Amino acid sequence: MADIGDVRSVLTDLGIAAELLRGDARLRADLGLDSVDLSQLQVELAEGHGVRFDPWTGHDPTVREVAALVREATAAREYRRRGWWRAGLLDEAVLDTRAHPGDRAALTGDGRTLCRAELDAAVSGCAARLAEGGVLPGDHVLVLPPNEPRFLVLVLALIRLGARPVLAPPALTARELGPAVAAVGATAVAVAGPGRRSDPLRTAEELRVRHPSLRAVLVPGGDPARGHLDLDACAAARGAAPPGGSRDPSGTALFLLSSGTTGAPRLIPRTHEAFTHLVRVSAEASGLTPDSVYLAVLPVAHSFAFGHPGVLGALAQGGRAVLGPTGDPAAALELVARERVTHCALTPAVARLWLDARAAHRGPDLSSLRVLQVGGARLDEATAARLAEVFGCRVQQVYGMSEGVLNLTRLDDPDEVAFRTQGRPASPGDETRVVDGRGLPVADGETGELLVRGPGVIGAYHGGAEPEAFTSDGFLRTGDLVRRHRSGRFEVVGRVKDVINRGGEKVPAGELEALVAAHPRVGAAAAVAMPHPVLGEAVCLYVTGGAGGAPGLREIRRFLGEAGLAPYKLPERLVELPELPLTGIGKVDKARLRADIRARETTPPY
Ligand code: AMP
Repeated sequence: MADIGDVRSVLTDLGIAAELLRGDARLRADLGLDSVDLSQLQVELAEGHGVRFDPWTGHDPTVREVAALVREATAAREYRRRGWWRAGLLDEAVLDTRAHPGDRAALTGDGRTLCRAELDAAVSGCAARLAEGGVLPGDHVLVLPPNEPRFLVLVLALIRLGARPVLAPPALTARELGPAVAAVGATAVAVAGPGRRSDPLRTAEELRVRHPSLRAVLVPGGDPARGHLDLDACAAARGAAPPGGSRDPSGTALFLLSSGTTGAPRLIPRTHEAFTHLVRVSAEASGLTPDSVYLAVLPVAHSFAFGHPGVLGALAQGGRAVLGPTGDPAAALELVARERVTHCALTPAVARLWLDARAAHRGPDLSSLRVLQVGGARLDEATAARLAEVFGCRVQQVYGMSEGVLNLTRLDDPDEVAFRTQGRPASPGDETRVVDGRGLPVADGETGELLVRGPGVIGAYHGGAEPEAFTSDGFLRTGDLVRRHRSGRFEVVGRVKDVINRGGEKVPAGELEALVAAHPRVGAAAAVAMPHPVLGEAVCLYVTGGAGGAPGLREIRRFLGEAGLAPYKLPERLVELPELPLTGIGKVDKARLRADIRARETTPPY
């Protein structure tokens, strides 16, 4: 048996920094390394841990990476043994036509309904058309989906083909999406045609100019002469899927985008088995059955309406998904009545608009509603109680992250739990820790940051970006401050990440501040949340003036818009100060700024 000194020299040969090993006498035992021979090490990691590890590549692995690989492989074995990860593929689990009859209605939108068999055939036919159009297994395709059936068909078809959709909110600009396109070398981008308020096709064309990897633009009615593929023709095709590359349940099915804290959204890889697990457990916890009708009025580009449990959860349970318009509460209520909707997911901001719309219009018969899910931002108790009363249904709070953290109140929870807490993990495999600023556990009832690890939660971002978002033993740092009740339920009470949660849409403060600082008349800038009666939080920007005094709000909004910031991230209020307050260690004192804006005004000036 080799001793730790030998292992150290082997790992040093592997390019592992010696200082990482210092004092790490447990490493050898942890890794179960009995050999100092590189080939032997490779064999032992493969046979002992199921880890594919190639010491002969140019990549320099670190102890952390090797240990993480071993830990992930061990966890994966356990998740499979417990049945949390199953051998199936995401599209097949969602469209399983053996478990649920093919003639059952599955997807409604654009004035028509597809039954399960038709939807399945459309997904396969679309995959075949995409392949003919040059989309290959392994390709990455950026998809900016509006809530329309053809885009859902496209996403499932890409997955069936073995290509990887990267789901992105259509509101993001080319500047914001560029890093994701570059990180995966996306070969195509799929967008809606120009609309009244936005022009996603322009975003796609801008991306194509900047990123030569983007060979094709998929757009409804696309014109081949402009290098466009017609998405309508793809989604209307029926038939067998092409014999694509082999698909592996442990492989990446799709990517979501994180809402980020510093700037460019990070890519969240979702494997078939992990995402299918989340879809299944959250659909069960939401009471979705073959008789359920799920209405999506939040963007399906976001995990909440897509797969937490969302549209995919409804389909996986044999129910029907209805794709509705975003941002039109009156139309949504009409749709609830017309389609006999049982489930719908809302943010607190949209929930408040639903309450207003209902007060203004008692007409539609909403008696089919069983569950209103509310998440994306903290729901206050009074609004929760009003929702239950006005809509006569269960209110289910959902606290989740696109990274795979997912907690829900349960449908049989008493009202005080459903109204006051954000529930408990959807997955029975989730491990949670609540820690203080030094990473030490706090007692139940105390406030701390929530860390989560489990079968639905990612262990890393694509390309290992932002490794500090994970602990050395693989827990995701949520950046959210919670209190755990003794019952195991969580209450979200704040956050440590520097993000403004504007009605459920996240605005990374750092991104805004960096762009504002480039304005010639701005000295320093800090963005903080200010209270907003509907959105919950809105963006307030504090600035110090450069030469000639600080610009006004209109000028700043124009400047940021031109710099490529999505409209929902623009500040609603601007306050000029002679200087920004600093903390003892010289950082901008955002707590003071938040208190300041609360004191100045509790509603924005419009
Ligand atoms: P996203 O990545 O867009 O899914 O945003 C995830 C973040 O939204 C979480 O880390 C929380 O900060 C916030 N969030 C989501 N759901 C809730 C909720 N029910 N209550 C409070 N905050 C929430």
